[in-house]
Amino acid sequence: MTDCVFCKIVAGQIPSTKVHEDQHTLAFMDIGQVNPGHVLVAVKRHAANLFELDAEQAEAAARTCHRVAQAIREAFAPEGLSVYQANGRAAGQTVYHYHVHLLPRHAGDGMELTWPVKNPPRETLAGYAEKIKARLA
Ligand code: AMP
Ligand code: ZN
Repeated sequence: MTDCVFCKIVAGQIPSTKVHEDQHTLAFMDIGQVNPGHVLVAVKRHAANLFELDAEQAEAAARTCHRVAQAIREAFAPEGLSVYQANGRAAGQTVYHYHVHLLPRHAGDGMELTWPVKNPPRETLAGYAEKIKARLA
């Protein structure tokens, strides 16, 4: 994708601060650094979002997240770590090339994600589950 900022980072056409690279993934420092040690794990071959990944890319991204998260924890000793991944504008995605945020967390760090629970009745949950299961069969 010629116009994609993360494709340009993968290709070395614009600078980034890399922490890990393998066949399918590149991990580099998020330029915004919400907290110190904030890393992005991106796939190398362009995929706009989770839905465009193939299984090999998905597995590789999960492996890299697992590995780099351990390193972040050892390096920065955060109180917690959020794994955040947005798909689509409505979900808050701003760069349309699949990436996962590994975000060290501390009490009172100002990071907020509101979580407006609905707590529907169990029959409603069953109905939602049936819709999903029908598509997994
Ligand atoms: P998202 O909202 O999940 O799509 O996040 C995009 C992230 O990419 C933001 O946290 C930005 O700070 C980060 N970002 C954008 N451009 C760059 C860049 N050139 N190098 C590193 N991080 C970037
Ligand atoms: Zn791209």
